[in-house]
Amino acid sequence: MAYIILNKNNFFNNLDIIAKSTKGRDKIALVLKDNAYGHGLLEMAHMAKEYGVKRAVVRTCQEADKIEDFFDYILVLGEIPASKSDKIRYTINDVDSISRFPKGTKVELKVDTGMHRNGILMSELDEAFSKIKEAKLSLEAVFTHHRSADELTSEWFWQNNNFKTVKERAIELSKKFGFGTLRFHSSNSASLFRNNNFDEDMARVGIAAYGCMDLPQALNTEGLKPVLSLWASKVSSRELKAGQRVGYGGDYEALKDCVVSNYDFGYGDGFLRACANGYKTSNAIELVGRVSMDNSTFMSSEDELLIFNDATEAAKYAKTISYEILTALKADIKREII
Ligand SMILES: *Cc1c(COP(=O)(O)O)cnc(C)c1O
Repeated sequence: MAYIILNKNNFFNNLDIIAKSTKGRDKIALVLKDNAYGHGLLEMAHMAKEYGVKRAVVRTCQEADKIEDFFDYILVLGEIPASKSDKIRYTINDVDSISRFPKGTKVELKVDTGMHRNGILMSELDEAFSKIKEAKLSLEAVFTHHRSADELTSEWFWQNNNFKTVKERAIELSKKFGFGTLRFHSSNSASLFRNNNFDEDMARVGIAAYGCMDLPQALNTEGLKPVLSLWASKVSSRELKAGQRVGYGGDYEALKDCVVSNYDFGYGDGFLRACANGYKTSNAIELVGRVSMDNSTFMSSEDELLIFNDATEAAKYAKTISYEILTALKADIKREII
């Protein structure tokens, strides 16, 4: 099987860079959803705790339960809980869902400032506060999400302005309904680094912590290093004669005699089939033929082959984003921290 190596020094290096922008480690909310972007939920939670990260963001209640002991604060983005928790906060994504949270649940209200995916409308703010009060929930924060923080357009500024309006009204409403001081947050990785004047209560940082940001040059952040590298072990080698063809469909034909080896990983482990025929590893070793379920053939005879040490490179070849390359990696691949 393939295996993953996680580089703790690189992770801590990235957290140092992020903490400079957030002006403190305590404002980092590390996004650990989807098995920590394929890195391994418990492995990353463990290292984050060692670094001093106190906050985490996940998608499901199950993820939150698994990492409860590692953090002081956990935000669940996508599920309504069956019971309340001291440490775990839950997201209100829709006005109609407010009555479905158990009484006393700590909640954070997501507001749609332009992405038009989840969150209440800006025009529903008054109604939402009133319903949260009625449902006897404990409202702690109001937040939003950017749709274009990683693109060089004015949309990031437009959403920030919208969120400013939301904040002002939310402060008034919080006084009116007696919710106490609210926290506010709006930044993902790209948004955090665009902002030279970060002044919110926390930033929800995912891809930057994993060191796989891929931004336009003008927005680029120096010094982030990929945490994850993917390796595979050799199963067998063979000499191909000129004209012989490799794998399903015989898609690759040897132009001259050469040695190729088969490695024990494929799309069953989460490696995209789009990397077939021509993908090159970080050491410029070529993948030949199709990617099979549990096998891939490379122009190599090395026993242990580095498939990539920077998911953004594999993403470029597969015409996708590092997020998809990383989250595709299956949870049962062995992970080792160095
Ligand atoms: C996934 C996610 C993030 C993290 O985004 P990155 O681009 O990886 O930093 C932040 N906030 C929300 C709501 C998310 O869903």
